[in-house]
Amino acid sequence: MMRAAVATGAGAPISLQDLEVPEPGPGEVLVDVTACGICFTDLNLLRGHYPFARFPVVPGHEITGVVTAVGEGVTFPEVGTAVGAQFLYDSCGHCDQCVRGEQILCPRKVVTGIVADGGYAPYALLKAGFVTPLPDGTDPVAAAPLMCAGLTAFNGLRQGGVRAGARVAVVGAGGVGGLAVRYAAAMGARVAVVGRSRRGEDQAKALGAELFVATQESDPAQALKAWGGGADLVLNASPSTEAAAAALGGLAPDGTLVLCGYGQDPLVLPTQPMILNRLHVVASPSGSPHDLRDTLAFSAGHDILPDVTPVSLDEAPAVLEAMGAGTARGRSVITFA
Ligand SMILES: [Zn+2]
Ligand SMILES: [Zn+2]
Repeated sequence: MMRAAVATGAGAPISLQDLEVPEPGPGEVLVDVTACGICFTDLNLLRGHYPFARFPVVPGHEITGVVTAVGEGVTFPEVGTAVGAQFLYDSCGHCDQCVRGEQILCPRKVVTGIVADGGYAPYALLKAGFVTPLPDGTDPVAAAPLMCAGLTAFNGLRQGGVRAGARVAVVGAGGVGGLAVRYAAAMGARVAVVGRSRRGEDQAKALGAELFVATQESDPAQALKAWGGGADLVLNASPSTEAAAAALGGLAPDGTLVLCGYGQDPLVLPTQPMILNRLHVVASPSGSPHDLRDTLAFSAGHDILPDVTPVSLDEAPAVLEAMGAGTARGRSVITFA
């Protein structure tokens, strides 16, 4: 038996329960979980924001651990391999998107910790083709959020066509945004951060931003236009569509707005300036297995790891409650001894 945290239904608090340790079937691996990040997605699951959720379910999609058993037919990864697992649990394997290696776009994708059991447990049953080996020397606790926030930030920049020397504005420098700033700087871009108040300025500059725009004091579109003619890429990492819309006017001609974060409001586009300046808007979910492999390799190569607070499984319910109340600080990661 193993002690796991279980989401039992929409609106119900998370509960700690004893579950059987699962056994890997064909194509599956059993992972001895080292760490699992606590993500806002987990809170949204408990709040009932995912109509496709399967209750009861073990949440958690920012998993690192070691393969401890493999099912029939699995030759990779081998027992003993340190791996990471992400939001994408499985896909159909034969649609056009899957065959192109874009499993994240599969219409029949399965999501970790919402539809299939995730990492709020000492063992997780995962699909061999959807876990990614950790680069040698990676700290598995600090790396857990790379499976979600890191992948989303890295792939968002990539989908936005970031180039060395480009001007990249990151809206909201929280979990995803903070990593996006570091990745963009390491990719050779010049970076601006758009935040609400000056409070985040020192941290943004320490991460590699050369410009900080506080929307309480100035119009982000004007401030970005004054930054050498505008941003080539605006990455919205804030949970607000309005914040993305406010920065859209700060794009340089041929520039791209990448939506990683969003709110409930629709995005309204100013059509004439969009056309006259050939502006692009792209929305980007997390990423496919090849994107995670690249994210982890880039993070290891440039020493990019988030600051995390390790917590025990028993502390997870209180962390989620604090996140819901807006009093949580930083990124908590459940660790299993
Ligand atoms: Zn996440
Ligand atoms: Zn598919």
